[in-house]
Amino acid sequence: MNLILFGPPGAGKGTQALYIVKNYNFFQLSTGDLLRNEIKNKSQLGNDIEKIISKGEFVSDEIVDNLIEKSILKIKFNHPIIFDGYPRNLSQTNNLENILNKFNQKISFIIFLNVKRKIIEKRITGRMTCEKCNMIFNQFFNQKEIEEHHCGKNFLIKRQDDDKEIAMSRYDIYMEQTKPVLDFYSSKEGFHEIDGSLKIDQIYNKIDDILGV
Ligand code: AMP
Repeated sequence: MNLILFGPPGAGKGTQALYIVKNYNFFQLSTGDLLRNEIKNKSQLGNDIEKIISKGEFVSDEIVDNLIEKSILKIKFNHPIIFDGYPRNLSQTNNLENILNKFNQKISFIIFLNVKRKIIEKRITGRMTCEKCNMIFNQFFNQKEIEEHHCGKNFLIKRQDDDKEIAMSRYDIYMEQTKPVLDFYSSKEGFHEIDGSLKIDQIYNKIDDILGV
């Protein structure tokens, strides 16, 4: 019973993934997080990845598929997995389908958080992520929560690729490249589209409806 979380940058994938992990005991596998961890390690691979991410482009399938495979070998499918930010094109989709077959697993839920381009800008340029617990805030909308954050606000950082121009280009690249993947999954059982511009709690409720509380 694994799940794919789709959505352009700023759609709220990270926030919703944390909710699902907490309430449904899933394991979150985010390729964005895996890639940012490589950057933190300061390896040669990390440096190469940083150059690509900072331009808002996609990292090569070879690198991303490799990171996903390595993670899955470690975590197996002891918990159902949320694939967050993966697959982003058809080649990655094939790779994921092969991995699932190998482990006798399937995707039971596909959730697409759809948000229009004009809403994304403020969401992304105001985004602050906690380095310690991965909680996500927005400096335009969540000043009080930022002040009161339990890890301390010093852990809140702005992602380098959350700059306005890069963010909008990431949105366009995502929508264009991911469209064939959405076309592939949208006809499958378990596909749900949610309006990602709704309030966070409203989206939680819709996710509860889908995951069956
Ligand atoms: P995200 O955290 O999902 O917004 O991803 C941040 C950045 O990491 C993206 O803009 C891409 O540069 C890169 N990235 C994340 N996932 C993938 C993927 N599946 N394929 C290629 N690049 C990715």
